[in-house]
Amino acid sequence: MEKTLSIIKPDAVKKGVIGQILTRFENNGLRIAATKKIQLSQKEAEEFYAIHKERPFFKDLVEFMVSGPVVVSVLEGENAVLKNRELMGATNPKEAAPGTIRADFAENIDANAVHGSDSLENAKIEIEFFFSKTEIL
Ligand code: GDP
Repeated sequence: MEKTLSIIKPDAVKKGVIGQILTRFENNGLRIAATKKIQLSQKEAEEFYAIHKERPFFKDLVEFMVSGPVVVSVLEGENAVLKNRELMGATNPKEAAPGTIRADFAENIDANAVHGSDSLENAKIEIEFFFSKTEIL
């Protein structure tokens, strides 16, 4: 069993598709071990995406992530990291496979509906960033 971190980004929260996205996880063998709606601060968004600090899109990415509430969740299941990435689809929704979350709900590469950990190692770090052990059940 693996755990991974999912973020439903501000565009998808504004659209009112939190339930539809969480349902996709549950329908595909990913159990919701923790979930909460939060407003990221500038500092938190910068820290979370620190790996992209030198990228040209960093400023836009942080600005977008603080533009409204997000829903962070811990998903648990077999191959949870990879399974979540498959359900999400490609980073650029124009390249995302039909039926994926990004193909169905994302507008563009900035407002791309969801984040998902890209490795088991990052999943652990990202889960600890948002949740204490007692919140994961
Ligand atoms: P992800 O793991 O699929 O979310 O993609 P990355 O970790 O590579 O990038 C993090 C986030 O930065 C993506 O989800 C996009 O919102 C944004 N991003 C990545 N690449 C680009 C880019 O080339 N241009 C812009 N504007 N945003 C990008």
